[in-house]
Amino acid sequence: QAPHLLTNFLFPSETKKIMAAASHKKITSFHPPQRVLMGPGPSNINPRVLAAMSLPVIGYLDPAFVEMMDELKSLLRYAFQTDNQLTYPISGPGSVGMESCFVNMVAPGDKVVVCRNGVFGGRMIENVERCKATPVIVEGTWGEPVDPNALEDTLKKNPDARVVAFVHAETSTGCVSDAKALAEVAHRYDCLTIVDAVTSLAGCPLYVKEWELDAVYSASQKCLSCTPGLSPVTYSDRVIDYVTGRKDKVQSWFMDLNLILNYWGNTVRTYHHTAPINGLFALHEALLLLKEEGIENTWARHQRHYQALKAGFEAMGLKFLVKEENRLPQISAIMVPEGINEAEVRSKLLSEFNLEIGAGLGPLAGKVWRFGLMGYTAQSANVMLCLSALGSVLS
Ligand code: PLP
Repeated sequence: QAPHLLTNFLFPSETKKIMAAASHKKITSFHPPQRVLMGPGPSNINPRVLAAMSLPVIGYLDPAFVEMMDELKSLLRYAFQTDNQLTYPISGPGSVGMESCFVNMVAPGDKVVVCRNGVFGGRMIENVERCKATPVIVEGTWGEPVDPNALEDTLKKNPDARVVAFVHAETSTGCVSDAKALAEVAHRYDCLTIVDAVTSLAGCPLYVKEWELDAVYSASQKCLSCTPGLSPVTYSDRVIDYVTGRKDKVQSWFMDLNLILNYWGNTVRTYHHTAPINGLFALHEALLLLKEEGIENTWARHQRHYQALKAGFEAMGLKFLVKEENRLPQISAIMVPEGINEAEVRSKLLSEFNLEIGAGLGPLAGKVWRFGLMGYTAQSANVMLCLSALGSVLS
């Protein structure tokens, strides 16, 4: 346990005891326990992806690596169902993908409409504020999709808004919003869209080109079943035109698209930052697996295993937070039955069955469990394990 700075200040003797205990522990190589990851992410990883990650490192400007980067971009275009030229993985988790969209597309003083129906819409608002812009919030209900009519009302009242941001798949509730309808409304009012597809990419239909989404970010560790720490993004030409035409400097050096284009763009390849090379090997393999399975088949697999899980939950008398028509197959929020200690159930599932599930977030903390069936985790054996383990713990 690392002594916290404040603890150190207030209780120096306590800190010394902790440090002494830590210094006596013999540290050996770390071997994580084998878990079945049925929480909100990360999901389990296909052994082929882990094997790719362990290949020897090469330079980030090595011609072989550069060739691999081009394949990676084309595989990502397939995953996002787009032909956007600027489609690449950001070095950093989904939160960096989110932040990159905001710092590039939102300048100080702008007005941005953010739709919030869960935790991650709230994070978008934080991003807008940190860009020194004004968020206008379309407040939704947790567990229900964002209402396109409510977005339209807000845009009517705020004709000076430049950007509309929303979450396609709210991981905190397991609810999907109609990204196509929301983008249509946003474009009618001449706004660019920022879309969070962290949980939706590869887990349920997402058509970036057909739905005309402008900036879409995701993460590697959910339905792509890759190692955590990468954030695939795709930007329409409208976004690139805006960012390259910006008169002020993008607030972040690391995330400034104008600079990153020199590494991930098409023409030149110059040093920007040291790419997470082995992580990118892993992503390449994860995307190849997606291509081999076929994206529609992958979506169908998520749906099939969700149906089996749902049948089991219903047989146990458990209730979903979200109405059936708005549910995401890859993440289910289940109401904790009256009188059950929800944290104890999670802890027993982990210690007795090596099964990780997620807790509720924000106002849903203590009220729901979140069961993920994402990517490689979406398999019959895991559905069976989950239902039998949960049945045993609840009995
Ligand atoms: N957006 C959504 C919808 C998420 O579910 C998450 C993570 O769970 C994030 C953003 C942030 O992603 P990361 O944890 O990879 O930074």
